[in-house]
Amino acid sequence: MSKEVVVIGSGVAGLAAAIRFSVKGYSVKILEANNYPGGKLTEIKLGAFRFDAGPSLFTMPQYIEELFHLAGKDIFEYFEYEKCDIVCKYFFEDGLKLDFFQDKEKLFKEIEDKLNVDIQPLKKHFDSSEFIYNKTSKIFLEQSLHKFRNYLSLDVIKGIVASPKLKLFKTLHQDNEQHLNHPKLVQIFDRYATYNGSDPYQAPGILNVIPHLEQGFGTYFPKKGMVSITEALVKLAKDLGVEFLFNSKVSKIDIKKNSISGVYVGDEFYKSDIVVCNSDIKPAYKFLIPEVKKPNKTLSQEPSSSAMIFYWGINFDFKELDLHNIFFTDDYKEEFTKIFKEKNVSDDPTIYLNITSTKLPSDAPNNSQNWFVMVNVPSNEGQDWDILRGQIRRNVIAKLSRILKVDIEALIIEEDYLDPIRIEERTSSYAGALYGASSNDRMAAFFRHPNFSTVKGLYFVGGSVHPGGGIPLCLLSAKIVDDIV
Ligand code: FAD
Repeated sequence: MSKEVVVIGSGVAGLAAAIRFSVKGYSVKILEANNYPGGKLTEIKLGAFRFDAGPSLFTMPQYIEELFHLAGKDIFEYFEYEKCDIVCKYFFEDGLKLDFFQDKEKLFKEIEDKLNVDIQPLKKHFDSSEFIYNKTSKIFLEQSLHKFRNYLSLDVIKGIVASPKLKLFKTLHQDNEQHLNHPKLVQIFDRYATYNGSDPYQAPGILNVIPHLEQGFGTYFPKKGMVSITEALVKLAKDLGVEFLFNSKVSKIDIKKNSISGVYVGDEFYKSDIVVCNSDIKPAYKFLIPEVKKPNKTLSQEPSSSAMIFYWGINFDFKELDLHNIFFTDDYKEEFTKIFKEKNVSDDPTIYLNITSTKLPSDAPNNSQNWFVMVNVPSNEGQDWDILRGQIRRNVIAKLSRILKVDIEALIIEEDYLDPIRIEERTSSYAGALYGASSNDRMAAFFRHPNFSTVKGLYFVGGSVHPGGGIPLCLLSAKIVDDIV
């Protein structure tokens, strides 16, 4: 009899773990609280419109490809994606628009022409980003930091960490200000802190590895929308024999003599030799394994930011908008102070406006667009989200109407929203934080929960544990568990 594995949750990391265990010959069940798979990586349908509900930026597809490769399947029978020409369009209050082309030469020309600056500092900044990636990805991302310590001496780790080139001892903002020669470039590079829900004025400069992930490896778009990542992984898992049980919220992980014996969904018991928990680490300790000693330092880390998202069916085709558009505020610093220190929202927020219909005509009727409009907000600390939502909606509509020179309110024909409360309800993410703990602390990477536990047979994957949030890192968490097992 093959060993049995229960995966709690069908987020992208849970799906990847299930596929990996199945490939190894285990008998795998996924127990999912919702009646649909994917967690944050799902979709919303409103009338004739379809929206990707959560992630919109798809980077490092190699980690998805690897799963199909391991399973001996042709990825293109499941999933198609293409490289984007433009990573992002940036809109500033003074009317300037900058297209961040994937092609570096085109990008440098755009920056030279529109900002009228020498592009050598920007080139060096990208080089430095690549350097950080090459030095750190193996250590910090692709394996368990916590096991790594066992066979690499602490001195070596200390040496790596102490290197000024890794920029751990200054903030991301300080690093950008020091090396870039235009305030708009500083603002653009500061926003990379939001990739893992952090604050550029607190998070360490090592986060300047992210520009290389985006610009160096490229950004991609799945031809049938981001949800097709989930759909492809679910199909692959099913083809490998993984069993899915929906509407099955695990209420307890059963541990006997410090080893896994199974899990409970209410009174129903599912025996298993291994449990891979894709639930957020905080509720996991609180509800699923209350008897296990809590890693207090890890669990008390500051949560990452959350999001207020409006899904708007827009009765107009804005030709100048692409997949990813960012409308910056002039006072970026104030915005982050509000989010991370005051736990409030700015009256002039930065707006992330993503459209999937530019690439996928079936997502919206002719001459219409499906807008995913997101504003970074603090994690939930009991704020009145109905009031905040009204306030954000007014401010967002006023700002987009001003910049796009059209009354946006009059164009909205379908509407729904997601806020920190709904994010927590739908994915069990503590306080609605998008990426588990923030990376505002320089040592955050070391404080994240490892992918294994003190209980034999219990493993953790997903955005709230090592190596962190975002699709690529979630996929890596499953790879690390696979390696450990
Ligand atoms: P989750 O998606 O958090 O899902 C966990 C699953 O486990 C859920 O389905 C939940 O129901 C289930 N579950 C939890 N507890 C239980 C239980 N007790 N029993 C049964 N089931 C349980 N990432 C990017 O790479 N690019 C982006 O552009 C991007 N943008 C984002 C925008 C938004 C609005 C959001 C919300 C996230 C974004 N992210 C982005 C982050 C990315 O979506 C997440 O890091 C990733 O999808 C999280 O995957 P996960 O495996 O941790 O599981």
